[in-house]
Amino acid sequence: MRVVQFIDWDGTVIDIQSILHGFPATAPPDPSRGGYTFDRWNPSDFSIVVSDMTITATYIADECEHVWDSGTVTLEPTCTEDGVRTFTCTRCDETRPEPIPALSHAWDDGTVTLKPTVDKEGEKTFTCGRCGEERVEMIPALHVVTVGAQVGTLRARAAGTVKFPVTTANIADGAYAATVANLPTGVTVQGQVAITNNAGTLTLAASSSTIAGTTDSLALTISGATSPAFTLTIEAATVTNTGGGGGIMPSQPQPTPTPTPATTVITPIDVPGISFNGSYNDSFEDVATGVWYYSDVKYVARNGLMNGTSTSPMLFSPSLSTTRGMIVTILYRLSGSPDASALPSPFDDVAAGAWYFDAVKWAAENGIVSGYGGGKFGPVDDITREQLATILNNYAIFAGLNLPTKKEYQAFADDANIAGYAKGAVERLFKAGVVGGKQDNSFDPKGNATRAEVASMLTRFISAKEA
Ligand SMILES: [Zn+2]
Ligand SMILES: [Zn+2]
Repeated sequence: MRVVQFIDWDGTVIDIQSILHGFPATAPPDPSRGGYTFDRWNPSDFSIVVSDMTITATYIADECEHVWDSGTVTLEPTCTEDGVRTFTCTRCDETRPEPIPALSHAWDDGTVTLKPTVDKEGEKTFTCGRCGEERVEMIPALHVVTVGAQVGTLRARAAGTVKFPVTTANIADGAYAATVANLPTGVTVQGQVAITNNAGTLTLAASSSTIAGTTDSLALTISGATSPAFTLTIEAATVTNTGGGGGIMPSQPQPTPTPTPATTVITPIDVPGISFNGSYNDSFEDVATGVWYYSDVKYVARNGLMNGTSTSPMLFSPSLSTTRGMIVTILYRLSGSPDASALPSPFDDVAAGAWYFDAVKWAAENGIVSGYGGGKFGPVDDITREQLATILNNYAIFAGLNLPTKKEYQAFADDANIAGYAKGAVERLFKAGVVGGKQDNSFDPKGNATRAEVASMLTRFISAKEA
């Protein structure tokens, strides 16, 4: 006799049969199970029983109409990684995972961690308030456009063109379409502005001499960068044919100068009416061989650009200041003292016959100086370092000197004190190695340029342009 047990899926005995060796067992009626359909017995062949057997009912699960619960977060999402919510069927306990999207970073408003300069991009760092991750965004470099003469007077002489020196920063060489906002009717921008080494010329064309009486606030835009507003005043009082030259008399906005204090008056020998005749040598008693300006003083003296202040004793007076009239005279002489007798005199504080009269007229006519506005030039005012830089830069533009770029501009500690009209010039001359800072990395823009500093700047300026 053999014993054959039929059992259910969970081990419940359904039937026990005693079978003669070699005879078949008889399957009991199909059992049932909730959610399943009976499939077969396993093993399925019990037609010849030769040993004791246990035969198990097998089922196939019915398709469940799942009823999902509301789910449980089984993996929390992070800023960058998905999480998981797991749902469970309340009928069959089957589970189903569903991704929870990553939260993405919660960036703050960012902090400027590197300020942009005119030449270099800056950086802004954003921090995620959730995970602390940091993200750096580039801040574009500041493009700067400066019109050399912030205030100009267009004298309605004859129809023609007039030119403004333009300095830029961080703008690639090339010809740019220039737009000028608020141009008076009848005045147009002529051609493009060609920028080379961050300098160029804006040409305005007047259609006739009849434009008059308009003052407008102008702004020049080149390559997306806009100059500070500058003013163009049109005067139509006198029409003088200048051979088509037109005429803009640029003048810079400058504070009304405080009167020069009455200090020791030394009449510089190198200016009023005394020609450079080589009668001076460079053996100045107050310029010692080892001082930093020694070779510069020697250079300007030997080239007749500046001379001593006294013959007995032989003095150069390196720490005396320099007046605006002297600087203009030096540049005028550097240009070969061209005939200026027919030029108009735009300033009422520059008297006819003064030793600087021709030089100032010539410089104004060529856009090298522009005065304080209101017809004032201040010829006997001490020149400030930023005024000197501006005038030298204007001279370079006038003379078509291609100043080299020898180094990157490094902002001065007192950069913010440099007047807007002078900023481009200071940068340009710094890059060319003509001007530098003081020991505390200040530029001291409002400080007076001493004769030693003037000698030094002139020497470097001249050697820069000759390079
Ligand atoms: Zn289910
Ligand atoms: Zn994050």
